[in-house]
Amino acid sequence: MTDKKNDHNRPKSDATTVVHAGRDPTATHGFINQPSYRGSTVLFPTVKTLKTLNQPYTYGRYGNPTVRGLEDAISELEVGDATLLTASGLQAVTTALLAFVAAGDEILMVDNVYQPTRTFCDNALSALGVTTIYYDPTIGGAIADLITAKTKLIFTESPGSQTMELQDIPAIAKVAKAHDIWLLMDNTWATPIFFKALNFGVDVSIQAATKYFVGHADALLGSITTSARATPLVQRARNLYGVCPGAEETYLGARGLRTLTVRLAHHQASAIDLALWLEARAEVSRVLHPALESHPQHALWQRDFTGSTGLFSIVLKTNSDTALAAMLDDLQYFGMGYSWGGFESLIVPADPRSYRTATTWNGEGQLLRLHVGLEDINDLKADLDAGFARLNAAIS
Ligand SMILES: *Cc1c(COP(=O)(O)O)cnc(C)c1O
Repeated sequence: MTDKKNDHNRPKSDATTVVHAGRDPTATHGFINQPSYRGSTVLFPTVKTLKTLNQPYTYGRYGNPTVRGLEDAISELEVGDATLLTASGLQAVTTALLAFVAAGDEILMVDNVYQPTRTFCDNALSALGVTTIYYDPTIGGAIADLITAKTKLIFTESPGSQTMELQDIPAIAKVAKAHDIWLLMDNTWATPIFFKALNFGVDVSIQAATKYFVGHADALLGSITTSARATPLVQRARNLYGVCPGAEETYLGARGLRTLTVRLAHHQASAIDLALWLEARAEVSRVLHPALESHPQHALWQRDFTGSTGLFSIVLKTNSDTALAAMLDDLQYFGMGYSWGGFESLIVPADPRSYRTATTWNGEGQLLRLHVGLEDINDLKADLDAGFARLNAAIS
């Protein structure tokens, strides 16, 4: 498929990559989409091939053309050496962590990390003799003070779940490099479209592909993208633990990928519009959105990110449970439920005070996390406007 008119040195834009990467219609009878391969057994033509495993696919658990296609496309977007798909975002997190640690090691974990990641560290890693030390998300280069001879890795998530603090990834990467320790990042919020983690010195970029890659709330999937020096360790862990994605989920991930950039553009514009609208509301104390000038680490977002997505939080002035229920119970378009990244808008209350250990959360009122979906923005505003009217009526 060489087109002489094309300048192959010109880097492809991500919008073109999501459409064309990881599929080859010349190999699939002209059909545009990679078919969904299903299977465990892969046949070998000769004893020699069987013994040397000298063919592209050897067993279903190690991948098939559908899996490899999506992995290659994500590697291209993340500018990584390799990508391994997993059955869920959490499995991507746990497989990546298990790839690097052994009994006696310490890891540094950001305090606003996705809660199930914290639960894994506090229960599974601790049982294996690995100690987790939580740190302030705004620590930056001062993370050097927490490093000991036992520190194996630093885990980052930026912005972090629920409270949306941003991390100074380049400053942390500098420290990780100086101490020869691994740097991992849960990059689900920005996706590689808006933050190319490996270009910032991160060794392992993790996606809950469940969110924006799948994009339709109909599948669970994860991905781990690695630098060349991290690839063998993550590959080994993946094989040891028998980690692999489901066929249906892989297909849905590849299908979602094709519209990733257009969906994100819409999520981005609507979320900023709604965040600014919320900032002007009397019921709202604070809006926690990295792309807003009011965000405490807005300068970091401007420096490092090329865009923002649909997820942000607000802090209400009130802490009244009855007012909250009055507002949320009757929303028409904002659903209440976990996960995010799909086409539908979501809203959930959260209490960061309940799990933080390295820092304290001083929310003056109830924190609400919103995911702004693909509905018309005026319908979403009207939905929240009616919700605020119910909230106010319940308070007075
Ligand atoms: C949802 C989420 C995960 C876990 O993804 P699942 O596919 O639900 O297991 C991990 N990290 C972040 C930041 C998430 O929001």
